[in-house]
Amino acid sequence: AKDLGRNRFHYFTASMQEEARYRMILIRDLRQAVNKKEFEIFYQPIIDLSTGEMHKAEALIRWHHPERGMVSPSEFIPVAEDTGLIIDIGNWVFSQAAKQSAHWRDKFGVEIQISINKSPIQFRDEGDSFEDWIVQLKDLNLASNSICVEITEGLLLDASMGVSEKLLAYRDAGIQVSLDDFGTGYSSLAYLKKFDIDYLKIDQSFTRNLESDTDDVTLCEAIIVMAHKLGMMVIAEGVETEYQKNLLAKAGCDYGQGYLFSRPIPAADFEQKYIRAIAE
Ligand code: C2E
Ligand code: CA
Ligand code: CA
Ligand code: CA
Repeated sequence: AKDLGRNRFHYFTASMQEEARYRMILIRDLRQAVNKKEFEIFYQPIIDLSTGEMHKAEALIRWHHPERGMVSPSEFIPVAEDTGLIIDIGNWVFSQAAKQSAHWRDKFGVEIQISINKSPIQFRDEGDSFEDWIVQLKDLNLASNSICVEITEGLLLDASMGVSEKLLAYRDAGIQVSLDDFGTGYSSLAYLKKFDIDYLKIDQSFTRNLESDTDDVTLCEAIIVMAHKLGMMVIAEGVETEYQKNLLAKAGCDYGQGYLFSRPIPAADFEQKYIRAIAE
């Protein structure tokens, strides 16, 4: 953690030259990390606000750097996107999540839906292995709704990637789609209808100020009503307090995710804390 702090300090104060050097090292290390299996998936529960039950979780990648310790995805995902490494990383995340889901089903008879984050760069990739994903699910004997794909608003604006075709193919295959960080991007409401999204995830910047900002309360309530009218379910991100949870539940929000319930935790911990509990 100390090393990470030092690097961060460098990163923000360094000259452009140093910054470029830091970035090159990060790229080199990231390239090796893919081969050396330095990544791990953490799982964060997504809670049904009307029952308190957990049937969903989000897979969030972690990088254990041999010297720097844990590197945050906010730091390395953008670099992975710039270099194209996100393709391999993204496919790895998918495979891990699918295998994990099958494992929990086989061991405990528990079926949960795991959400994975799919970068626009993956969509843009010509060899985007969507069909391969379907094959993997079949091989594991998993229902296609065992996996949910989280996309961001920016993707919906980019018609060049054949996004609508791909999202239609997802629907045909039974894979559900969530719109992540809703409210922070620029997508028009018309897109929501057009793309047949299953879940809207209210960004944590709205959840955060529910206690103090009545405008944010109004916004959340309006988003929930609109989403339901368009046939979508709503997941609130960044739920940290009972107050926020109760307010969201009262407004009809379907699911909550956040530190109030649990931080993202390793698979073994998630199994201990959540999967076994359901199995019993
Ligand atoms: P995201 O998809 O919006 O994920 C939610 C982030 O909010 C996670 O940060 C999570 O740990 C954090 N979070 C959850 N609950 C709370 C809360 O109550 N309060 C606060 N303050 N934060 C909360 P994390 O794990 O650091 O990931 C950051 C971002 O990195 C993600 O944001 C996502 O955009 C990206 N990311 C993570 N894993 C992957 C991945 O496998 N593939 C891709 N393409 N992106 C990923
Ligand atoms: Ca997400
Ligand atoms: Ca989010
Ligand atoms: Ca995000």
